[in-house]
Amino acid sequence: MANATPVRVRFCPSPTGNPHVGLVRTALFNWAYARHNEGTLVFRIEDTDAARDSEESYEQLLDSMRWLGFDWDEGPEVGGPHAPYRQSQRMEIYKDVAAKLIDGGYAYPCYCTTEELDARREAARAAGKPSGYDGHCRDLTAEQIQAYEAEGRKHIIRFRMPDEATTFTDLVRGEITVQAENVTDYGIVRANGAPLYTLVNPVDDALMEITHVLRGEDLLSSTPRQIALYKALIELGIAKAIPEFGHLPYVMGEGNKKLSKRDPQASLNLYRERGFLPEGLLNYLSLLGWSFSADQDVFSIPDMVAKFDLADVNANPARFDLKKAEAINADHIRMLDVKTFAEACEPWLKAPHANWAPEEFDEAAWQAIAPHAQTRLKVLSEITDNVDFLFRAEPVFDEPSWTKAMKEGSDALLRTARAKLDAADWTSPESLKEAVLAAGEEHGLKLGKAQAPVRVAVTGRTIGLPLFESLEILGKEKALTRIDAALAKLTA
Ligand code: GLU
Ligand code: ZN
Repeated sequence: MANATPVRVRFCPSPTGNPHVGLVRTALFNWAYARHNEGTLVFRIEDTDAARDSEESYEQLLDSMRWLGFDWDEGPEVGGPHAPYRQSQRMEIYKDVAAKLIDGGYAYPCYCTTEELDARREAARAAGKPSGYDGHCRDLTAEQIQAYEAEGRKHIIRFRMPDEATTFTDLVRGEITVQAENVTDYGIVRANGAPLYTLVNPVDDALMEITHVLRGEDLLSSTPRQIALYKALIELGIAKAIPEFGHLPYVMGEGNKKLSKRDPQASLNLYRERGFLPEGLLNYLSLLGWSFSADQDVFSIPDMVAKFDLADVNANPARFDLKKAEAINADHIRMLDVKTFAEACEPWLKAPHANWAPEEFDEAAWQAIAPHAQTRLKVLSEITDNVDFLFRAEPVFDEPSWTKAMKEGSDALLRTARAKLDAADWTSPESLKEAVLAAGEEHGLKLGKAQAPVRVAVTGRTIGLPLFESLEILGKEKALTRIDAALAKLTA
């Protein structure tokens, strides 16, 4: 790229609770944009809300970003020229900027009480007038201020909005104009002196020389205020330029309602616990508002980065579709090499998730079955139910499976199958298949019907990994003992 200033984007979450998928999508688009343009990703922690932010959420946020495979060029743990990157450690900076804004006449103390503001807002509404802040304290005289102070009133700091419309070109949504009466003077510092998001977010974007602000559509309405604040910061020599803004589309959940942070489906931890691969989840999330190509939904993250362009981000709301997320994740599971797949399954194979005792785990059997499991799973947590038959002394019969597979005549079929399996070559799944096929023929059953009771007898379930490979890996002795046990149960 010959022309432009280097790209500097930021990801700046507040550490309030579990990370959610909307946040991950925002992080992903910023990260991909930075990497695609060989720019800089700034990771900033917006933890100025002491009541809602917690150290635990902060740790969880960092852990999530690492798990997802994101790296950042400036921010926590890596530092950078604009350190510190936690807003709770930057309070002096905001205090200083707020003072400069007041000195320059860009902001002023507002002494209105909540009751007064509410009453005037109600009155304006009733009169059909705009109901934002009415500018009551815009031009208080020194005497008026003294009088309020003498009354013991507290004040917030308000930013003075210019009396003109704001027009900007959103990188996703095109040109946007907001009339002055819809954006009134707004608070930037609380009565207790704590700076608000409205101040600290654009101030840090300015100081950190952010060139592109990419974030969720819910923040679109704060943009005209931020642009006005930027202009003031430029006049004060604090900011260099106004960044470009791009607002990513809403993500819709069940029933076409906006996916909310509190929605269980929105929780990143849920996807981790269910065994999504980070690359599978990111592949899916990248499709929420962006597309790789008209006919390809599955791709690697490096390929996504190579193609990522804001021009391809769509302004329409995106629908979160769990089935599709799982299908894409399944494709990513298939794409791993077997060794990586086997390693990725480890957390589920080790207690306490597993339905077998740690000493029952059989590494050789696992290595043998892993390639077959890899072709079947949608999410890694499904591994336990698929391989537990190998490790437990006896299968645990799933009741519906038993009822479904063990019908009238199943005992006769199982007896024949047992005899034929006993005579088969247990080093060849083909030979085991022929045995069950032949047993089925004797009883007028196709392979599918004939193998169901065998499968349930040996694994406990009607659904599972390829049966004949499973039998071979389990071994003749155990398999035949289980068929005997099922026969005993059937005739009891
Ligand atoms: N900390 C803000 C949030 O939680 C950042 C918003 C922005 O990207 O400007 O949404
Ligand atoms: Zn006021």
